[in-house]
Amino acid sequence: MTAPAYKRILLKLSGEVLMGNQQFGIDTEFVAALAGEVKAAKDSGLELCLVIGGGNIFRGMAGAAKGMDRAQADYMGMLATVMNALAMQSALERLGVPTRVQSAIEMDKVCEPVIRRRAERHLEKGRVVIFAAGVGAPYFTTDSGAALRAAEMKCDALLKGTSVDGVYNADPKKDPTARRYDTVDYDTVLADNLQVMDASAVALCRDNNIPIVVFSIREQGNLARVLAGEGTQTIVKKDV
Ligand code: UDP
Repeated sequence: MTAPAYKRILLKLSGEVLMGNQQFGIDTEFVAALAGEVKAAKDSGLELCLVIGGGNIFRGMAGAAKGMDRAQADYMGMLATVMNALAMQSALERLGVPTRVQSAIEMDKVCEPVIRRRAERHLEKGRVVIFAAGVGAPYFTTDSGAALRAAEMKCDALLKGTSVDGVYNADPKKDPTARRYDTVDYDTVLADNLQVMDASAVALCRDNNIPIVVFSIREQGNLARVLAGEGTQTIVKKDV
């Protein structure tokens, strides 16, 4: 596979990858290791936007399932993503990587609000921009937040670093015959309800022609391999 020529990417990390080997919360050692991978990607000359989920702390659906008001629970989930963003900012800055957090829910004591032009300037100056609080509205996920920011920041690709190494035609944990796609088009993902990102996020990427690269961030060094066009991954794109 030839190395894709990305100039600017958005890296989406599921909240659960920040747990490391814990059952819940933030494993600071693991976050430090992730920050090292992000630094390496940035040092290779890329402009980097980051979106981190909140599933390691709180998911709105889980709260709603236990009787909470869904919107209220979703706002808690969004706050969880801000905590993760601050943890990652701290880890990146310990490595000397200048970083700004912009939150879709304004909280000016801890971070900036989302201002696209300011984010653009940060990237030009070599800062990593972490977009927190998803799209800032309940009934969405950070996948949709990632797709939205990738579109407005004109990223060349959305890299989804998660616990699985790509997109399968069935759940590999349940079906031993499940097959991983190297590439798959957006419409197949949507029609077959393949587990990549939620449908609204996939549709936003499709409509803006942003390739989605799904890979496992749990394997050390995998981000660099994927950026070099190596390593196990699935690319969701228009023409396959
Ligand atoms: N969330 C939301 N709107 C958004 C982004 C996130 O309501 O735009 C809430 C939602 O409750 C979600 C939680 O924040 O469950 C954590 O985000 P997500 O589940 O996307 O995290 P991940 O699965 O990537 O760790």
